Amino acid sequence: MKLYSLSAKELMLLIRKKELTKEEIITSFLDRIADVDKDLNAFITVFDKEKIISLINETVEEEISLLKYIPFAIKDNICIQGTRTSCGSKMLENYISPYDATVIKLLKQSKVLFLGKTNMDEFAMGSSTETSYFGKVKNPHNLTKIPGGSSGGSAVAVASGETIFALGSDTGGSIRQPAALCGVVGIKPTYGRVSRYGLVAFASSLDQVGVFARNVYDTSMAMDIICGYDEKDSTSIDVKKEKYSSSIDTLDEQFLKSIKVGLPKEYFISGIQDEVKQKVLFAVKILDKLGVKVEEVSLPHTEYAVATYYLIAPAEASSNLARYDGVKYGYKTDSEKLKKLKIDEKDNNEYSALIDMYRYTRREGFGDEVKRRIMIGTYALSKGYYDAYYGKAQKVRNLITKDFLDVFKKVDFLITPTTPTTAFDLGSKIDNPLQMYLSDIFTIPCNLAGLPGISIPCGFDNDQLPIGLQILAPHFKEKQMLQLSYCIEQELKIKNSSENKYLV
Ligand code: GLN
Repeated sequence: MKLYSLSAKELMLLIRKKELTKEEIITSFLDRIADVDKDLNAFITVFDKEKIISLINETVEEEISLLKYIPFAIKDNICIQGTRTSCGSKMLENYISPYDATVIKLLKQSKVLFLGKTNMDEFAMGSSTETSYFGKVKNPHNLTKIPGGSSGGSAVAVASGETIFALGSDTGGSIRQPAALCGVVGIKPTYGRVSRYGLVAFASSLDQVGVFARNVYDTSMAMDIICGYDEKDSTSIDVKKEKYSSSIDTLDEQFLKSIKVGLPKEYFISGIQDEVKQKVLFAVKILDKLGVKVEEVSLPHTEYAVATYYLIAPAEASSNLARYDGVKYGYKTDSEKLKKLKIDEKDNNEYSALIDMYRYTRREGFGDEVKRRIMIGTYALSKGYYDAYYGKAQKVRNLITKDFLDVFKKVDFLITPTTPTTAFDLGSKIDNPLQMYLSDIFTIPCNLAGLPGISIPCGFDNDQLPIGLQILAPHFKEKQMLQLSYCIEQELKIKNSSENKYLV
């Protein structure tokens, strides 16, 4: 049996009926990874069988081990104790995490299987997973296309059946955008809903951990586990824990008739790929027929979102990444080489050896995109420019948030395309950062406002590349957002072509 093509729910049933052992599951998924990952490169680290077994917490009682022996792949910026967390960077190539992230602790309580760590844009900066020190990731729908990013490895691992679930992080779209481009479900919870403790910080006021899965119900089961208050994360919010999967089990026909969906006109502009627009609007038409009220709405400050994000995110990143200095963590330049260089001798500065060590460590340890962000961020935070750039960006961020709060007084959800186009060619935007940044135009506003968002598959373009539909909801309305996603999924019944050996 091809275990990798089952849903989490189906696999769980077989495990509960004792028709499958953990060894069989591990072997089956490791075989699948060995089959396809040399072409896809979704993993940075694949654990061997012994390691996977050693990471299972067998002491947990049966009743609370909700996703017992279900495979997970973890983005390589989330710490699992005793294993490498590279962030896709040479800087952390040999860094071993000394502790578990809170989400990993929660998954361990659920007795899941950790298969390995997934490839990503370096320090989660990118939209195509081409900036990883560990090589590019390929889209399983077409190996000449990008998978999206920065959590491209997680999206690909789920789409290709290398795992059932994957965790990712979403700072400006890094879960929803690759989910859309790889044809899987990706959810970014409300800021504060899932603990960030143990997630390597990129832009702390925007980062959020979330889930990739192949269907909405599976997604809701993983959300049941990872959501919740954590005293170790000062931005975690103590709201009531919800049972997302049972809320789908108990969905009734009245639900669709009781909701109102808004279509923000700024997200259906000219310039977006025709097929993307058509497929999203087709799904909306079905909802309309089922009794959902649909109306056009406006989020007038949307046009400033990308510019705002590209001041705030690099500013926070430049501060967060200051810790990689060759002293505390990770890569350190070769001191023998520095001695030979004697570059700063002329300065006659007693600290020049130390400064050279920082300089060469960071020059050699970081890739181009990370350096670009550090420079933008440092500039935006520097004396004399702080108010003009960072301060102004924070004010615009408030206006963008207010747009959403106003619109959610009128409608319950927003539906938009997740991305303006389907997956683009590998290499086509890597030398044009501005073009690359614009591919996140529809995902970024949600992070600036701290809202929950999800991308679900809604069809294919003429080249058989997947299209994602994004739902945005008010803060902490993940339950209703998952319910609506489930209804759309059941109506659309999207299926991948069975001829592609890289897909499930
Ligand atoms: N693509 C965006 C960026 O490059 C978002 C990244 C993310 O969400 N981690 O910053």
